[in-house]
Amino acid sequence: MIRVSSLVKNYGLNAALRGVDLHVPPGKFVALVGPNGAGKSTLLRIVATLLRPTEGEVKVGGWLFPHHAARVRRHIGLVSHQPLLYRDLSAAENLEFFARLYQLDEVQARVDEALKTVGLFARQRDPVGGFSRGMVQRLTIARATLHEPDVLLLDEPYTGLDQDASQLLDSLLRRESEIGRTILLITHDLSHGLEQSDHIAILNRGRIVAECDSTVTTESEFLELYAHHTRRSKKKQRSRINGAIT
Ligand code: ADP
Repeated sequence: MIRVSSLVKNYGLNAALRGVDLHVPPGKFVALVGPNGAGKSTLLRIVATLLRPTEGEVKVGGWLFPHHAARVRRHIGLVSHQPLLYRDLSAAENLEFFARLYQLDEVQARVDEALKTVGLFARQRDPVGGFSRGMVQRLTIARATLHEPDVLLLDEPYTGLDQDASQLLDSLLRRESEIGRTILLITHDLSHGLEQSDHIAILNRGRIVAECDSTVTTESEFLELYAHHTRRSKKKQRSRINGAIT
């Protein structure tokens, strides 16, 4: 469903992605982890067509980005750091607004269904400005899946959620996966990412350095793999700091 090929992204002289290949088969849940600055958000933003790659391409649902950005976009729902919701509008009004923006049919039925799915039907008339972070995040997912995309992309969706809200988000993502949605999730929580996904990939310094089947990999095996593949950059960072001090 998603195929990333030889992706390179340079920000001026800074190489954020240095040749990334990643395959996410239809209906699979893939977690992407890696240290800060590894290039995770850059990769997700390119898959979401928000950023053009310097080299390489992304195929989503058979369509190529950058060549067919609009077609790719139809297959994608994005949950990023900006919830893209209007605080003064109610939950229902927000979804109605997006449904009309996407030119969707049966707006009322879709909005009702989406609100029920994320457990906000009873709060549909309340302004989003008064919502908790967890409620905003659930409404964001409702907004991102309103057009029934094949692919759901999520960048650190658990940030700022308490335990109850995290668990609600877990079950929501499980449901999205069960109905066949292809999911690519960025998370900094290694154990949680492993537990949730079918497949997990480690990105470090702009490259995929390891991938494994989450369903057969134990937490300790994965933590060891992660430490092994990210150790080099830590050492390098440390020697740079030492270099600056001496
Ligand atoms: P991660 O999500 O893994 O923390 P990012 O994709 O945000 O990594 O960043 C990868 C690298 O690209 C970092 O070195 C970061 O400083 C740099 N970077 C990210 N966005 C920009 C930007 N808009 N302009 C310049 N450099 C950027």
